[in-house]
Amino acid sequence: MINVKDLHKSFDHHEILKGITNHVEEKEVVVVIGPSGSGKSTFLRCLNGLEVASSGEIEVAGMSLTDPKTNIHQLRQHVGMVFQQFNLFKHLTILENITIGPRKVKKMSLEDSNRKARELLAKVGLSGKEDSYPDQLSGGQQQRVAIARALAMGPEVMLFDEPTSALDPEMVGEVLQVMKALAVEGMTMVVVTHEMGFAREVGDRVIFMDDGYIVEEGSPQDIFTNPQMDRTKNFLAKVL
Ligand code: ADP
Ligand code: MG
Repeated sequence: MINVKDLHKSFDHHEILKGITNHVEEKEVVVVIGPSGSGKSTFLRCLNGLEVASSGEIEVAGMSLTDPKTNIHQLRQHVGMVFQQFNLFKHLTILENITIGPRKVKKMSLEDSNRKARELLAKVGLSGKEDSYPDQLSGGQQQRVAIARALAMGPEVMLFDEPTSALDPEMVGEVLQVMKALAVEGMTMVVVTHEMGFAREVGDRVIFMDDGYIVEEGSPQDIFTNPQMDRTKNFLAKVL
């Protein structure tokens, strides 16, 4: 589903990604961990074209991101992304937040997009919030709307960049629960998170990034109980 070959990314001559190579299989859940500034967000942003690679190859859902002929807007319909900040449209209702993409981009009818949005709201546990505005919802509820909004486009891959980092602790669980359900359904997911419990329980594979490299990767079991590299051990000693 995702194929990355020797990805490099620089900002102003400063190299942030220093040669990332990785494959993500369909239905796989890959959790990316690593210290702040190691390039995790830049890596995810490269996967849906929010950042342009300096060199290397990226294929997602059968489309090449590094081919200038690829339509990036079309690609983004196949790759959903959820950010730390939920970025909902404040002046739109919850239902409108979810339907605006399918209506504008996919030209879905009002009726179909509303029906789909209601299904997704039920799925994230927010039936009844259709007519609320983002400000009337808690952070955890807003993030679940953001997930529903991403799903409304019918993506084949979902990217999550620290989706629970901005939340009060009591709201983290409800968001992770929705993500877990999505994983169980077979969604292909790449998740940057500091939630090591989630990584262990839901992740098929854990990637440890540091300083623009993938230092180590393996099953959650391998990485958490038997890390090989000193940098991985040092990081885990701080977060576990
Ligand atoms: P992480 O998500 O692991 O914390 P990031 O990918 O956000 O790391 O950032 C890695 C490095 O790249 C940081 O030093 C950051 O300052 C730098 N960086 C990220 N985005 C930009 C940008 N748009 N312009 C310049 N530097 C950036
Ligand atoms: Mg980040």
